[in-house]
Amino acid sequence: MVGWYRDTVETLYGEEQIAARVRELGAAISRDYHDKDLVLLCVLKGSVLFAADLARAIDIPLRLEFLGVQSYGDDIKSSGVVQITLDLTRPIEGEHVLVVEDIVDTGLTLDYILSTLKTRNPASVRVCSLLHKPARMKKQVPIDYLGFTIDDVFVVGYGLDWAQKYRNLPEIGVVKGT
Ligand code: 5GP
Repeated sequence: MVGWYRDTVETLYGEEQIAARVRELGAAISRDYHDKDLVLLCVLKGSVLFAADLARAIDIPLRLEFLGVQSYGDDIKSSGVVQITLDLTRPIEGEHVLVVEDIVDTGLTLDYILSTLKTRNPASVRVCSLLHKPARMKKQVPIDYLGFTIDDVFVVGYGLDWAQKYRNLPEIGVVKGT
């Protein structure tokens, strides 16, 4: 693929690297949940490409759910004020939920999601995040399965946006000049 974005985005993780890591995460999740009913909870919108690939890398039955959240702030910073814009279609009481996140930056969004989910009495809640920026962590949140740890840079692609653009990049990168 030539890639319309190549002039503006510098690649951090290419398609092959992402696919290999997703396969490893899928294998670990399949092993850990082989005797459990798994609910894979995709947090919209950023996790949608990751969750779609991860679901196919998981070799056990699962139920797919979506949670829409909007985190207020400017284009590149989260404020920790989170609103649920789309809720689950079914209760999760007594079920094993794996939250699929695109990136944990300050941890404020995930902290809000986890505390909201816990009020619904699931059997367990774990987290699988594609990316983690430990430098900016404000809330300690558990990440049970992690794709890549990155420096304090603003990344786009593979679901991650900048003002709603760049989500459809097949790779993860940094916008040049930012
Ligand atoms: P947190 O609440 O952990 O600070 O941020 C979580 C959300 O902020 C992510 O789900 C994502 O939507 C957005 N975010 C944080 N860092 C980045 C980044 O480097 N790139 C993009 N595109 N979004 C980010």
